[in-house]
Amino acid sequence: PVVTRFAPSPTGFLHIGGARTALFNLLFARHHGGKFLLRIEDTDRARSTDEAIAAILDGLRWLDLDWDGEEIYQFSRASRHAEVAQAMLANGHAYKCFATAEELEAMRAGQRANKQPLRYDGRWRDRDESEAPAGAPFVIRLKAPREGSVTIDDQVQGAVTVNNSELDDMVLLRSDGTPTYMLAVVVDDHDMGVTHIIRGDDHLNNAFRQLPIYRAMGWEEPVYAHIPLIHGADGAKLSKRHGALGVDAYRDELGLLPEAVSNYLLRLGWGHGDDEIISREQAIGWFDLAGVGKSPSRFDLKKLENLNGHYIRASDDSRLAELVAERLPFEVSEAQLTLLNAAMPALKPRAANLNEIADGAMFLFRTRPLVLDEGAEALLEGDSPQLLFRIHVALDAAGSWDTEALEAAVRTVADEAGVKLGAVAQPLRAALTGRRTSPGIFDVLALLGREESLARIADHMT
Ligand code: GLU
Repeated sequence: PVVTRFAPSPTGFLHIGGARTALFNLLFARHHGGKFLLRIEDTDRARSTDEAIAAILDGLRWLDLDWDGEEIYQFSRASRHAEVAQAMLANGHAYKCFATAEELEAMRAGQRANKQPLRYDGRWRDRDESEAPAGAPFVIRLKAPREGSVTIDDQVQGAVTVNNSELDDMVLLRSDGTPTYMLAVVVDDHDMGVTHIIRGDDHLNNAFRQLPIYRAMGWEEPVYAHIPLIHGADGAKLSKRHGALGVDAYRDELGLLPEAVSNYLLRLGWGHGDDEIISREQAIGWFDLAGVGKSPSRFDLKKLENLNGHYIRASDDSRLAELVAERLPFEVSEAQLTLLNAAMPALKPRAANLNEIADGAMFLFRTRPLVLDEGAEALLEGDSPQLLFRIHVALDAAGSWDTEALEAAVRTVADEAGVKLGAVAQPLRAALTGRRTSPGIFDVLALLGREESLARIADHMT
């Protein structure tokens, strides 16, 4: 059975690259009817925080990337990691190294002077611990193969080979008994039964250090798939400068829907023909590692917003109303929520995000006299008060307050004044909303209702 995992280090928010890695792992597992696990790599005690853990769990849930079972906390497994280091010591695949920090520094200084790569030279590889002073501190190092090479048949990168001579005997267990990152990752992946390791290609080099641990323990090796990182629109690695935000900011600040972000992330680095809109169900059905591109993909907020606009239009109005209500700058009552819901068909057609809908909805809740923005003020000068008076009369006389009757009434005013509909609609819009842009003017009238509409118009007519 296929088992994948997402293994974030909780030293910061869940960023877009991490979210994509999690998505690919989830899709691969679901496609194969396997399991998708979550491991929090919290071994860096100084940099791991509870807030980061909470943000990661929250971000994954928001994106509907729920993992199977309980999440695993790496730090809690330290004694198991040490046990494996001892097992490797016992089976001859690891050894104790008593070299002091000063000694190693001198070794590296020599390597630097000779322009050699900085690598542990294996000075304790074949020595016996009886040669060390009694009670001297030691680390446990991997006895890595020195001859030959390792080839990883990476599912994305293809076959990648590294000569063993380029790898040194890395530390597995520190002198204080704590495991190194390389050891912890391998032990956890093995114990969790992980069969496929799908992660960013910044970890490809680590795979060559991790595989020897599997081999030393006689464990089944995982399949690797190292996916290219996400770059900014300028082709440089995505960074804060490009607005590399936490997933929570895509929700809270940018007002994006999770299914849009998820769809965008899927398309960022994986393709299925020309399909742009792909549901989660389709993604599970279609996802494969062969479809993951080899070159870095470029993050494009404009494309993400376009996709978001699509999902907004596809979304249920009552759900959108709830989401928009949360972003309004006041406590929304039941009646206001109902109004927001009714306004959604008029509000959502052009919106790229929830903030635009919230902004567009504000006219519904303003109180008289409306505060006008500059554009609206300009629209209400000149002949406008006179025109608004005529509109008021016509609307007041309208038989019913539905968009058809309202449109007929406003058109009659325009015809009689000998102007185009727009020349009437603009001051009317300014009077009703305080802005120069809004949903269609007849929708605005219908949503505000007779009494409120007439009162807002009366505020600006002569
Ligand atoms: N904890 C690592 C990271 O956040 C990932 C390790 C892995 O996937 O093997 O980059």
